[in-house]
Amino acid sequence: MFVARTVQELRQQVTALKALGRRIAFVPTMGCLHEGHLSLFDLGKSQGDCLVASIFVNPTQFNSVSDYSFYPRQLEVDLQLARERGVGLVFVPEVDEIFGGNVSLNCRVVAGSYSAGLCGATRPGHFDGVVTIVSILFHLVQPDVAIFGEKDYQQLKVITQLVQSLHFPVEIIPGPLVREKDGLAMSSRNNRLNPQERQVAVKISQVLFATQSWVRESKVRDVAQILRKVEQGLAESPSLRADYVQIVDVHSLQPLEELLSQAQLLVAVFIGNVRLIDNVRLDVSTI
Ligand code: AMP
Repeated sequence: MFVARTVQELRQQVTALKALGRRIAFVPTMGCLHEGHLSLFDLGKSQGDCLVASIFVNPTQFNSVSDYSFYPRQLEVDLQLARERGVGLVFVPEVDEIFGGNVSLNCRVVAGSYSAGLCGATRPGHFDGVVTIVSILFHLVQPDVAIFGEKDYQQLKVITQLVQSLHFPVEIIPGPLVREKDGLAMSSRNNRLNPQERQVAVKISQVLFATQSWVRESKVRDVAQILRKVEQGLAESPSLRADYVQIVDVHSLQPLEELLSQAQLLVAVFIGNVRLIDNVRLDVSTI
């Protein structure tokens, strides 16, 4: 595995791969790798001849200084995991290498309509930061295909819209959400939970799965009623604080009033200062 720390090193590697006619599969990450990221590496390997990953904690997508500074980092462990999981080239730049000395002076990309609502509403500017770094990385890595996880369901839509809007010649492939054995959605931020918080965190996925079954069995279609049920379920654990609970159309991400089409139930929940997200499909075809 080649470790590129500078734009110049990365460009040299990418030029060499392109000259050999390699199909590049790309997985961007913020590191602190877990099985969710590694499953995207596996998918990437099946989609191209060379797997490129990036590990970069992008300051422009954080809206809280403390969230950025406390974001877990473990570069040496990550490099070992990436090597073992078949990454051929990994890009691990410092912030200045990407943004120069003053991030705020740089050009930015503005995210499209899918960024409104959900995480876009409660984290202003977050998706502009995401599409900016993804655009920079796409220009540098020139991937044929890029893999993004369904864990970040809205992000996947925002990136797909970015690629369509700016005509990036890259195919976006979704990777399924990977969970811990007890159901908690894997996330680098889970490392910030203390043992008590980790125990409580499982409640999030439990409530989502219970709602999924309840919707299937009760045949209820009134979204307000379903949302109340989710909020009540989360409120049973006083240390959980919902940031949002929403049910949207799986394609448009528009909030629904009634479950008449395929729907996605999405939540963002705070445990202390740690904000976790999760989502499940509400499949009305089985109702
Ligand atoms: P992050 O490092 O959190 O920016 O995530 C990098 C990529 O990994 C994104 O495409 C995420 O959606 C994806 N990812 C993170 N957690 C999971 C998970 N539990 N299952 C599947 N993909 C994930």
